[in-house]
Amino acid sequence: STCQLKTQGTSIHWETWDKETIRLVQTLTQRETVLFIADARITFDSFRNCMTATATSKTIITLNPGSDVILKLHPSIYFSVDSISDVLTVEKLKARSQEHAEVFHCIIFGFITSLEINSSISKVIRKRCAKCKFRINEESQTCSNDACPNQGQQLQATEGFDLLVDISDHTGTVQSCNLAGTVAEKTLGCKVKEFLRLSESQRTTLKWKFLLERCKIYLKVFPSARSRSGMRASILSCALADPVEVKQNFASFVV
Ligand SMILES: [Zn+2]
Repeated sequence: STCQLKTQGTSIHWETWDKETIRLVQTLTQRETVLFIADARITFDSFRNCMTATATSKTIITLNPGSDVILKLHPSIYFSVDSISDVLTVEKLKARSQEHAEVFHCIIFGFITSLEINSSISKVIRKRCAKCKFRINEESQTCSNDACPNQGQQLQATEGFDLLVDISDHTGTVQSCNLAGTVAEKTLGCKVKEFLRLSESQRTTLKWKFLLERCKIYLKVFPSARSRSGMRASILSCALADPVEVKQNFASFVV
């Protein structure tokens, strides 16, 4: 049996002769099921003039895997922040993003200098489509993804933090870093539901917990043509920094 597996924008030809696998493939829902395929044989098919993946006895197929499954099967795809060790200053981060237009990860010992959690709730918490995770259009209350598998059906939405924060150190500021989802919950130390119940003054207290303290911030930096600086940054983890570690790192900057 052969079939065409589509990924976002591209597709790969998939060939399998194994009965179990054929049965599995027949149960898949188009544009909905996510397949994680480990150890498939990839060859060039000169007849079809394309790359073809073939299932072998070693191939493992996982339906709709969670990141924990992927981590177990293929640790290089997902990694924990523990594998990030590059400490940069804001200035060096900006220089690196300009030198190479590619994704990199780093640590900044800096301050969150703008955290707008007192502004309107719609700027702090955003609804996303439960099916495809794209943003919900607030006006029309529909999924903003034209290719959403749930398009035309009743909207199912999840709520999550979606904040933009500035990060500064003695060398400069990285503006509009994304702080979202569970990373934001961990950073702020509260879930969306709890946050919605906080009073204005409690939100201010929460904010000042960060504005005065130096944090250890793990960042993913990626090129972005839409951004004025040519790059965007997402926070992977943010916690109050250990002063001893800060001192050690600043000593290395001076040298
Ligand atoms: Zn959607």
